[in-house]
Amino acid sequence: APIEVADNPKVTSRPILRPQIKGLMAEFLLNNDQLREYERRLIIDLRKGLNKQTHNSSIVKCFVTYIQDLPTGREKGTYLAVDLGGTNFRVLMVELGGPEKLHMTSMQFAVPQEKMLGTGDNLFTYLADCIAMFVEKYNLKNPNIVYSMGFTFSFPLSQKSLNKALIERWTKGFNCSDVVGQDVGMLLQKAIQRRGMKNIEIKVVINDTTGTLISAAWKNPACRIGLIIGTGTNACYVEKQKCAQLFDHKNRGSGEILINTEWGAFGDDGSLDFIRTRYDLELDAQTINPGRQVHEKMISGMYMGEIVRVLLVHAVKNGALFGGKGSHALFTRNMFLTKYVSQIEAQAAGNHAKCMQIFGELGLPHISEEDCLNVRYICQCVSSRAAYMVSAGICGLIRKMGEKNVAVGIDGSVYTYHPHVHRLMMEKIQELIMPGVQFQLMLSTDGSGRGAALAAAVAAKYEN
Ligand code: BGC
Ligand code: MG
Repeated sequence: APIEVADNPKVTSRPILRPQIKGLMAEFLLNNDQLREYERRLIIDLRKGLNKQTHNSSIVKCFVTYIQDLPTGREKGTYLAVDLGGTNFRVLMVELGGPEKLHMTSMQFAVPQEKMLGTGDNLFTYLADCIAMFVEKYNLKNPNIVYSMGFTFSFPLSQKSLNKALIERWTKGFNCSDVVGQDVGMLLQKAIQRRGMKNIEIKVVINDTTGTLISAAWKNPACRIGLIIGTGTNACYVEKQKCAQLFDHKNRGSGEILINTEWGAFGDDGSLDFIRTRYDLELDAQTINPGRQVHEKMISGMYMGEIVRVLLVHAVKNGALFGGKGSHALFTRNMFLTKYVSQIEAQAAGNHAKCMQIFGELGLPHISEEDCLNVRYICQCVSSRAAYMVSAGICGLIRKMGEKNVAVGIDGSVYTYHPHVHRLMMEKIQELIMPGVQFQLMLSTDGSGRGAALAAAVAAKYEN
């Protein structure tokens, strides 16, 4: 292929990080003092959420889950589970046969946008239709066999008991009408019944972070935190019951309770304004839930690509990128996917082929190597800020628990697919953590659905 030679003498020199881009990104480089301040504020908010007097006004809700025990690994039996995440719905059957024996069958369904934004009735009927397909395929219709089901629902839940959970608000791309404040366990149970499946009983409703924690703990008893960095972000951890003032049920003797922090909302009262940038504000203003999930919007996959795009647009308008020229796609919301951030950062230094291809598809086929180097720097600053904030959050949870040896079960597309987030977290947690504390970060792929089945198995112990 012909090789184009730049006729502008300025661009023939070695590509450099342009001072304007360095300046643009300066506020994204959080130092350890800022991260410690973030951690301190998070712990204050966790306490507010746990405390009866302050729970209602608290931004970080710290919902009690009613799950008092992690699995031991000795659970047995067949359980069904369903998992409504940010973009997909999964139906699973999990056969537990004792230590390390777990067999899982599953089907995955897309959740079309019209279901995410339609009526609640429409959504739950669709979920029941998906379950019916699974029941059909795996022959689960024998009315004499009753299946216990766990329901993973990846949204904020104000929990009243193991299987009674009121949705507090929608997040991510969902906004169904007539659902907020309702018991989602009951809505799904009713839809299942309407569909004629009389032998399925929803026994637990949990959040995806809780599912991730439970399924990671099934493998590794040191696991005390479940973390998601995917479409959204959130964390669940093991708290002492005496600190969880909203827990009003009988203590089963473990003395512990899983807490769904809902840390995605951290910052909704301004407590992250000290690190939030005007680009974060610009992104927030265009979302379906402005002012909400401030923390999540600085971190998770639904927003990371869009923050980069907002920054690219600013850089273009200031003449600092692409010779000052953008394209229709670049100027269109959500056209720069979080996946591109991962792909650009995954290239070896000096290799810009993927970056050129991505921008070619976005209508900018003639960008320079130096443009690519600068784009990559923008991506790195945005993704490392996310990794560092989550790291400080994990340190906050470990400090709050007072544990000396903690494994963290982690799932979600950003953690799974971004080439550097895991390493950045290892490094940053090591820097911020109290001396003497051991930690491990474990990938827990598809843990949230498996965790719901395990939660149903754990809950079965409470029935005796
Ligand atoms: C939801 C959480 C969920 C997280 C990760 C957030 O938007 O509020 O409930 O755990 O996303 O899926
Ligand atoms: Mg999920």
